[in-house]
Amino acid sequence: MRIRTKLMIAVALNILIFVGVIFFVVRPYFIEQSMERDRLAVDSQIASVTETLVNRKSSLERTLVDWAEWNDAYAFIQGKNETFIDSNISEASLDNLNVNAMLFLNRDGDVHYATFQKQSLSLTEPEQQAFLADIASRVRADANTRSTIYESEYGPVFYATHPILQSDRSGPAEGTLVMLEFVSSHFVADLSAQTKLPLAVGLTEATDTTITSRDGLTHVVIPLDTVYDKTDYGITFVVEPTHYQNTVTMLRLGILALLVLGVGLFLSLLWTIHHVIIRRLMGIGDELKQITIERDSRLRISLNEQSQDEIEQMAVSMNEVLAALEDTRAEVLDKAYRDALTQLPNRLAIEDYFSSVRGGDDQIGVIGLDLDDFRRINDQFGHRTGDAVLIYIASRLNFYKEDGFVARIGADEFMFLHPNWTLDELRPVARRLTKDLADWSEMNGVTGLTTTIGLDVFALRHPHHTYEVMMGRLDVVLHEAKLSGKKRILAFQEIEDGSHYLQTLEMERDLRRALENDEFELYYQPIVSPHPFAVRGVEALIRWNHPVKGQVSPGLFIPIAEQLGLISDLGCWVLRQAVSEMKEHSMRHHLFLSVNVSKRQIADGSFLAELEDVLAETLFDPHLLHVEITESEVGGNLYELQQFIQSLKTLGVKISLDDFGVGTSSLSFLQSLQLDLIKIDQNFVKGIPENTFDRALLEGLYQTFHTLGLDIVTEGVERPEQLAFVLEHSSSLIQGYHYSKPVPLAQLEHYLKKTVTLYDW
Ligand code: C2E
Ligand code: CA
Ligand code: CA
Repeated sequence: MRIRTKLMIAVALNILIFVGVIFFVVRPYFIEQSMERDRLAVDSQIASVTETLVNRKSSLERTLVDWAEWNDAYAFIQGKNETFIDSNISEASLDNLNVNAMLFLNRDGDVHYATFQKQSLSLTEPEQQAFLADIASRVRADANTRSTIYESEYGPVFYATHPILQSDRSGPAEGTLVMLEFVSSHFVADLSAQTKLPLAVGLTEATDTTITSRDGLTHVVIPLDTVYDKTDYGITFVVEPTHYQNTVTMLRLGILALLVLGVGLFLSLLWTIHHVIIRRLMGIGDELKQITIERDSRLRISLNEQSQDEIEQMAVSMNEVLAALEDTRAEVLDKAYRDALTQLPNRLAIEDYFSSVRGGDDQIGVIGLDLDDFRRINDQFGHRTGDAVLIYIASRLNFYKEDGFVARIGADEFMFLHPNWTLDELRPVARRLTKDLADWSEMNGVTGLTTTIGLDVFALRHPHHTYEVMMGRLDVVLHEAKLSGKKRILAFQEIEDGSHYLQTLEMERDLRRALENDEFELYYQPIVSPHPFAVRGVEALIRWNHPVKGQVSPGLFIPIAEQLGLISDLGCWVLRQAVSEMKEHSMRHHLFLSVNVSKRQIADGSFLAELEDVLAETLFDPHLLHVEITESEVGGNLYELQQFIQSLKTLGVKISLDDFGVGTSSLSFLQSLQLDLIKIDQNFVKGIPENTFDRALLEGLYQTFHTLGLDIVTEGVERPEQLAFVLEHSSSLIQGYHYSKPVPLAQLEHYLKKTVTLYDW
């Protein structure tokens, strides 16, 4: 899951929990609180209404008592105080006393005097008289009730009675004073004003104060029983549960605000996370991917200078890791690309450098420096001196290099490259190097220290001009310079057309393809016993039918095939081809088949392996197979050669020593090789019979080999005189133009037919 998703879920969960807590914990708590406060408010309203009523009632009762226990009133009811009414009772005084009507009843309960506040109820005179008479009769009927509410035709009426006494409360009571008050709209308005509640009066069956909630409002009924003596009336009012409503509104607004805040927070968090974290992380990820793809250890993650946050620190750390990796890589590369002695780049580095300039520059100036006879310097003056020479050359090359490139490419070979330099710029450097070396050798007493220098201006735009070609051309020019006397400075451009080595280069290229293209063919040269005449064997000699140049001599291409390592494949082909072509003739005419083997084929084991296979496959008689090794091979690794010969012997194959006399091996040395046959080189025969020295030499050789019990083939016998000499002094077999040149298979078959023999070898 992505970070963004995870964070979104986390934030959403948090908001959900927050809202849940508000909804299920905070909200009910506040609502409960508000309802409680509403209840308390209602309770206090009820208390206030009740108290106001009680006050009203008791103030009326106090007024009643004041008036009833009063000497003036006492006298008035006895009919003695005629001015009582005029001086005490008026519309204004009733209003002040909050009394709507007043009745003075005599001892018999009859109305002695009654007054009715006119403005309290708009009743006619007779209605008033009837109403008051009704009250008087109720008082008479129930003398015990001191105060009550009476349900009159005109609505509820509160009235109170008190016996009329003297001011000192002494009696006997002369009558009853009744004061009454209409519980009218006026009364209720008054009460409402005092309690600040919308009160109303009505009939009720309730005996206790009731509080009910309907339609979101609180309905309160306070029966007047609670204040007055029994009555069916009650005070009712309806209030809104303001605390509750306010709380609900507040909560609604609060939750809405929180939701808005939450969503805002959520979005801003998302934005921040995206811009500050995710975008940056993805950027770093992309850059790392790019670095991985390009595999360029110099690349770094781009940094944001202004930001100092953790991601930036991480990027810095990653860059440090990359830098450390680059260092490690550079170290490893340095080891692989640098020569330990001179600290110069090596051959590998040259190749790298070449690729880097090839894309950019048109041409490159090349100097190749190859010390002459460096081995001798080492032998004669010791390796320390040898090393000193090399280090000195390296320092001089570095000195001249400017923005070019120098390297040590071999034991005593150096290379100097400079893009776009021409021969005019290369030559002075070459000359100075030669002079530097001469000066150094004179100063250090190292005589004979010279160098051969090859120059080249190598066009880089040419499609075939690869690194190999550049190095090949340098080899060519150095080789040519060495051949023509060392200590030289030679430019490739000076030998471009006529160089033997250039032809060699070309041949190399062609040789690689020749095997695939089946351009090789075997010629066979008979080896004969002259007296009596018999063909005893044939030597397989390779020919290259070059598609353009015609037949190329093996003397030209065999050494090159050896150098290129192609000789092993070529040798295998020769063996297989010769055996398959000659098998029948060999068996039929009992001819041995002689094949040439090169040093390299022996060293890499390819010849032996192939030989075993071929013998097993063709069932060719191994005793009829001769392997020709040359004397130069004998001068190589003796142990290796002995092993090789031993293996051939085990197989039953015979061994010939080819070109005897060209090398310098001693006879005893040859003896240790268990040879079967010696082929004396044609150079010994060339001077026969004219050259006395040659005659003596050849005669001596025959004697020696006969003494050693070795069979002999004399090569290069062309003339009858030569044949006569050989016949006179030896029983040697003959291979030479005198009998036959090397010929194609068909011609050999023809030759064999002509000269068929059953002579046993
Ligand atoms: P080689 O083994 O000494 O072969 C004999 C060479 O002497 C042949 O030259 C042959 O043509 C030449 N020859 C023979 N009789 C006479 C003569 O009476 N007068 C003169 N002037 N020359 C005579 P070729 O065929 O040109 O071979 C040259 C060399 O190439 C061979 O010398 C051998 O060293 C090498 N070679 C040829 N074929 C092979 C091969 O298949 N494998 C290897 N490794 N080397 C081969
Ligand atoms: Ca040979
Ligand atoms: Ca030979």
